[in-house]
Amino acid sequence: MLHFARVRHFLTPSVLVRPGHVYPAGLGPRGCLRTSHERVLCSTLSEMVITQPDDWHLHVRDGPQLQSVVPFSAQHFGRAVIMPNLVPPITTTEACMAYKERIISAIPAGCTFTPLMTLYLTDDTPEEEVWRAKAAGIVAFKLYPAGATTNSSSGVTDIKNVLPVLRAIAEADMLLLVHGEVTDPSVDIFDREKEFIQQVMIPAMDAVPDLRVVMEHITTKDAVDFVRSSPEGLAATITPQHLTLNRNSLFVGGLRPHHYCLPVLKRELHRRAVCEAATSGSTKFFLGTDSAPHPRHAKESSCGCAGIFSAPVALSVYADAFEKAGALDQLEAFASINGPEFYGLPRNRGSISLVQEPWNPPDSYQFGDDVVVPFCAQETLRWKVKALRA
Ligand SMILES: [Zn+2]
Repeated sequence: MLHFARVRHFLTPSVLVRPGHVYPAGLGPRGCLRTSHERVLCSTLSEMVITQPDDWHLHVRDGPQLQSVVPFSAQHFGRAVIMPNLVPPITTTEACMAYKERIISAIPAGCTFTPLMTLYLTDDTPEEEVWRAKAAGIVAFKLYPAGATTNSSSGVTDIKNVLPVLRAIAEADMLLLVHGEVTDPSVDIFDREKEFIQQVMIPAMDAVPDLRVVMEHITTKDAVDFVRSSPEGLAATITPQHLTLNRNSLFVGGLRPHHYCLPVLKRELHRRAVCEAATSGSTKFFLGTDSAPHPRHAKESSCGCAGIFSAPVALSVYADAFEKAGALDQLEAFASINGPEFYGLPRNRGSISLVQEPWNPPDSYQFGDDVVVPFCAQETLRWKVKALRA
């Protein structure tokens, strides 16, 4: 079943194509996609309207930096799952509710953006915290293997330490979100996701089979195959950078710190597998930008931070990638439908309009007292978010 339900119009230079119209001469099936509503989506499509998307993996930092970046997400997305890896990490319901209020205070007037909150799982998280979190409307716990990424030193050192809490999370019908990389320095950085599946995911899912899990920001064919072959209770998010870039992008003409993130970009065969998963129509894959802003000086450094600030450009990049894959008709399911279905939440009622209008993201945006360089800075993107409709 295709979900491209609300395509408004589609123009060729000389032909207005209406629902049920036969393909114009010269426009083959790769250029024109027929939706479930018998409309025809052409290669010269100029505008598409889809259910408002959500971002199922987002970092918004705190303080003045939070005030700078929340508006970018709030202007495009209906909801976002907020990562808890602040300093110190958000490990209690009380701290989480205070953080939620700070996020809400940064939402621009007129935006109906809802932050979906998460707690940071540690070796010492008590089971009672799960029930406090559930009562407060927190949607998930986030598992960072200790030392895996930015501010993850308080993370879980051994999955066995948290099995009782994982059982409570399953019982409370909450989700576990995982940063799926082992942290053993002897494991090659490009193999850490694959190792994590063997060492952590499989034992955890065997021990708590009814636990619902999202593998965040998957980057490898191994993860795609694992998610596809697992039971219904396992899904995955995919970032714009892992959909569009391979590891060569880290080294084009020199070291590219603004393409550095964790998990690190992988070989082209893995990028292709991730892209095929996102655009396949499978309900197990959905949008999670992992937008993770750092000040420019912290990226352009002798020891640069991992993280890509994609919030202002993410929908444009996803649309470009889906168009290149000949799968624009799958964008709405990936961006707006599969996520709420997995989380057991209603779809957004509003919609968003994307127009084919080339634009160039700026070199930087204000970021508290600093600046942050966005993903695709000064590159040309083909799709632009035009408007939100209630
Ligand atoms: Zn992240």
